[in-house]
Amino acid sequence: MPIYRISPNFNSHGADIVFQSSDSLRFHVHAKNLEVSAGAFPPIPPKSENIKGLIVADGECVSLSEPEAVLEVLFAFMYPQRHPDLEDLPFELVSAIAEAAEKYEVYPAMNVCRRRMRDFISTNPVEVCLYGARHSYDNVVTCTAQYAIFVPLKTVVPLLPARLVVPWIDYLNSWVVARDRVLRFSWNQHHYSNGLHSAYVQNNSSCSSWRVHPEDIIRKSAITSDDPAGIRFLVDVDKTFQQKTEIERECCRKAWIAWHNIAKGEIEKMPSFVEMIKVNTRM
Ligand SMILES: [Zn+2]
Repeated sequence: MPIYRISPNFNSHGADIVFQSSDSLRFHVHAKNLEVSAGAFPPIPPKSENIKGLIVADGECVSLSEPEAVLEVLFAFMYPQRHPDLEDLPFELVSAIAEAAEKYEVYPAMNVCRRRMRDFISTNPVEVCLYGARHSYDNVVTCTAQYAIFVPLKTVVPLLPARLVVPWIDYLNSWVVARDRVLRFSWNQHHYSNGLHSAYVQNNSSCSSWRVHPEDIIRKSAITSDDPAGIRFLVDVDKTFQQKTEIERECCRKAWIAWHNIAKGEIEKMPSFVEMIKVNTRM
């Protein structure tokens, strides 16, 4: 009994090469389709001709590292038929298909995958940004950069096309400057924060409650190996500030809202990644 299965969609006896997925599904594929639709599969010569290329003996197959769910879609893009619709597929599968399309240069799939990956900008911005960086899709990088800026440089820089490295570092610097400006208001001097809280304390009264509130932001802005610039808390600044709900005293509550607005203002006035690219291109 064979320990493999054969794809019902790719089981033609006329096919001249057999691929096997990482989970043991075999695909009988016509070499001429690979030639036309994919740039990075090894050339497969007709058996009658003595040309260098991928030679597979009868009964043998080429093992690929992708699972059947990915290869079913990928090979379907190589045939002259209606191409697969990726609309209902989850991010993990679309992402795996997109990477395989790039790896094997399956041209008809590459554009479709790129468009579909952009649909996940709101749910998986970091992954989409790194995908854009890996494959030099500048427009994907530029519209996701603000969500991925906290990712360590040692992860991002090797993936970026050379022309985007300096703009990325400049862009990161502008986030670091914004971080410093926002955290300035967490300084605890005499239980108020650089005038921010004391401005809301009524005359002749005192409030020592404020000092506990900035601790929340200080904790979220901590420098970690996943967030080496300590800027992740600013990426979704509304979420960061709105997570805190129980502020009892009015002076503290108003100071918190004022601080939130200051942080929002810092993010809003920051140049975008696209502007950073333009500035560096002009130099
Ligand atoms: Zn207060």
